[in-house]
Amino acid sequence: MLAAISSALSALMLTACGQSPQVALVQTSIVVPPAPGPPAPPADSLTIGPAAVDTTGGWLADGNMLSPFDVANPVLSQLDPALLTAVQEAARAAEAQGVVLKVTSGWRSKGFQQRLFDDAVVAYGSVEKAAEFVATPEVSKHVTGQAIDIGQAEADRWLIANGRQFGLCQIYANEIWHFELVADANGNCPPLRPNAAG
Ligand SMILES: [Zn+2]
Repeated sequence: MLAAISSALSALMLTACGQSPQVALVQTSIVVPPAPGPPAPPADSLTIGPAAVDTTGGWLADGNMLSPFDVANPVLSQLDPALLTAVQEAARAAEAQGVVLKVTSGWRSKGFQQRLFDDAVVAYGSVEKAAEFVATPEVSKHVTGQAIDIGQAEADRWLIANGRQFGLCQIYANEIWHFELVADANGNCPPLRPNAAG
């Protein structure tokens, strides 16, 4: 079809120029445009884009939250089983009081955590400042499956007030959503640290 149109056009043009129509019947090349590729990822420096297929372990799309019982997702299936059980028990108790606990982050692959940290360095301008907000893969408890982030704020407040009876403690003063299974046998949590760097 394209060849026919192309040849016809060539014939018209060449005829208009007063040349022999036979010349126009010479096979012309057809350039097939390449199929359009996937859309470019957004330029947001904190976006963990689909291009990073080897570093997306534990990634949840922005605004996506999991039920603590959605254990098919690696965010939860790769968690320390004791932490997962504690969060599920807390979620049941919270629900009985009308508060819904949702999981915004749990296990993260080392590559994903590195990418989060690298993005934070760009966003905050230095490794030191970034470390106040995002742990490196070497120290992140998310990478070892020993930390979970809970939303939303009402659920965070409930868990800060009640989590210790399940062993769950807030760790960083600047992260009301981040919990680890570190309460002692008496339900006492360690002193709050100011941030991930302190
Ligand atoms: Zn966290």
